[in-house]
Amino acid sequence: MSQKVDWANYVAHTETKLSKVSVSDTNLGETDEEAPEKYSPAEASLLAKIIRKGLVESKNDIEVQRKDPKSPLYSVKTFEALNLKPNLLKGVYEMGFNAPSKIQETALPTLLADPCQNLIAQSQSGTGKTAAFVLAMLSRVDPDKHYPQVLCLSPTYELAIQTGEAAAHMAKFCPEIEMRFAVRGEEVPRNTKLTEHIIIGTPGKVMDWALKLKFFDLKKISVFVLDEADVMIAQQGHQDQCIRIHKELSPKCQMMFFSATYTSEVMDFAEHIVKNPIVIRLKREEESLDNIAQYYVRCANPEQKYTAVTNIYGMLGLGQAIIFCHTRKTASWLSEKMSSDGHAVAVLSGDLTVEQRINVLDRFREGKEKVLITTNVLSRGIDVEQVTIVVNFDLPVDLQGEADCETYLHRIGRTGRFGKKGIAINLVDSENSMRICKDIEKHFGKKIQYLNADDCDEIEKIGQ
Ligand code: ADP
Repeated sequence: MSQKVDWANYVAHTETKLSKVSVSDTNLGETDEEAPEKYSPAEASLLAKIIRKGLVESKNDIEVQRKDPKSPLYSVKTFEALNLKPNLLKGVYEMGFNAPSKIQETALPTLLADPCQNLIAQSQSGTGKTAAFVLAMLSRVDPDKHYPQVLCLSPTYELAIQTGEAAAHMAKFCPEIEMRFAVRGEEVPRNTKLTEHIIIGTPGKVMDWALKLKFFDLKKISVFVLDEADVMIAQQGHQDQCIRIHKELSPKCQMMFFSATYTSEVMDFAEHIVKNPIVIRLKREEESLDNIAQYYVRCANPEQKYTAVTNIYGMLGLGQAIIFCHTRKTASWLSEKMSSDGHAVAVLSGDLTVEQRINVLDRFREGKEKVLITTNVLSRGIDVEQVTIVVNFDLPVDLQGEADCETYLHRIGRTGRFGKKGIAINLVDSENSMRICKDIEKHFGKKIQYLNADDCDEIEKIGQ
């Protein structure tokens, strides 16, 4: 039996629920340990959300495209300027937010404007999109009307729970606002009419509830949020379901559309769903290789690669290191070998549950382990300031076996941040991997120098 959400107990309840969700439960994990690790956009997005501790700040400016240049555009520097209900403002402060993030400065006045405005917003994960639309959803609710007025579609169960969790925190002082999840496992007796104000769910379940079982009336929805649109379209069938739900909405309904990426595919989808929108974008902070010394080491076989890693790490001994492997099998082989040689290593791979991964990353962040061995999982989510060396035990390649320069940049571009010097070591064990290394060098126009990993003097020099 499902129940109305009890706000006071809600957060604790969902946290327990979420911690029990293993990635393999969601059928997104790769099971073959010899295969390159692959992660779906939904999984990557969820993990990035869970692991992130706070806001990702950006120095870039917001880019605004207005379809209707007559409509005024505001931006705010404080939450007070938004004239929120006092208890909602209290909730925002309770979450530890002092001022709106870059994307929120422009998104919030647009989302809260009267008459309402449609919005398409794109910015990388962690920049405050969820908090923005959750605040708008809560502000738009009329608690005296006991039917669903706000509908938020998320691509997966876990992402819907994350959004609900943010809403629960923010509405801590607004017990009159009620919310319901429309996700797997939630059951409602036939002929029920839902009375909650906000529905957060996945497209399939929402379609069932609204169109087939008629638990609520889509025509009465005044705010429609489509979250993680890029993840949504990566999942077969979801896009069609969203479009079918969208078709039943009233033309007066306010549309809010959020995405972490801005591809033509996402924008085509966006334009279909959101009429006359204001489009705001926050360009990604460029990761760069400027502060990074890049090297390659020639090795004949995995054993030699191992020796190279331990020589280099042992001699430099500074900061922490992340070692990237192509398969889970190599990662576990390497970690066993390093551990038996007395190194404190942690392994992050696709067979771990979400909870285990959080644990591994927390320990690494705290410095309990100096070396993190990982497959491609989350190369983008790892942001540990004290990492000075990144080792590509295997060079990143795409499905065709060609150099994957984007992944290379994400792996390496994290070391030389905050003005510090970083070191990247690429282990090359065949003519093919030498070619890939050269392709990467050519792509970025930055020299990858030869390093003799048996030469102590040479290694010491790179650490200076
Ligand atoms: P996105 O949806 O873009 O991934 P979120 O809204 O989930 O971003 O925000 C990322 C993190 O930053 C969350 O932990 C959130 O609580 C926090 N956050 C959001 N807005 C603010 C703000 N204005 N000030 C401080 N922290 C914020």
